Parts: sequence; C-alpha cells; structure tokens
Amino acid sequence: MLYFYNLNVNIIMFIKEYIEKTRHTRHSKSGKIHDYFRNKTIVLLRCDNCDKIFQRPRGSMDPNRINNNYFHVCETCDSKKFAQRMGITRKKIWDMPASSDLDISKL
Ligand SMILES: [Zn+2]
Repeated sequence: MLYFYNLNVNIIMFIKEYIEKTRHTRHSKSGKIHDYFRNKTIVLLRCDNCDKIFQRPRGSMDPNRINNNYFHVCETCDSKKFAQRMGITRKKIWDMPASSDLDISKL
C-alpha cells in the first residue's frame, strides 16, 4: 500500500506514478486454480479543482497529458464546470513550462 505524506509541499498536479501488482486467479482447463499477477502502472494526480489526491491507471490516460501542463480533475468533480471556470486562465497555464514554480492555487 502506498501513502503520500507530503501533501502541503507539492503544488504540482502530477505527483508520481507507481506500479501496482494485482493478483488474479484463473481456472485452467483441468479445473485447477492458478494465481497470476499483473503489473499495472498507476498515475497519482492531484485534482485541480478540489486538491484531492486521486489515481488513475496509466493505460486509461493520454500519455501526452501526464504532465503538469494539463489540468487533472478527479471523478467527483465536474471537469466541464472546472474547465468553464478556468477558461480564461487555462491557456496561460497550459503554455507554462513544467518547471515553473508558480503557485497555481494563487491564480
Ligand atoms: Zn476533485
């Protein structure tokens, strides 16, 4: 299990990614049960709307968007409303380099 301790220091939205090992069982032709494992890459993001840390399987995301130039909104937030509210500032932020130390929450 992975815990994220450093909540107050990071202002970035893309926090990290990690491999999650999941265990599955499958029935073989002879009726035996076999365990097998799969590695799934999970991306940890911070919601730009509510600041909640959430995670997504990397495979479900556009790889070009896994960086800090994009907003990421969690499942419980309405991404369309968020986009409307941020409409004016969005372009400015999206054009920023990822290394910018500008505090998004103060915009
Ligand atoms: Zn949210």
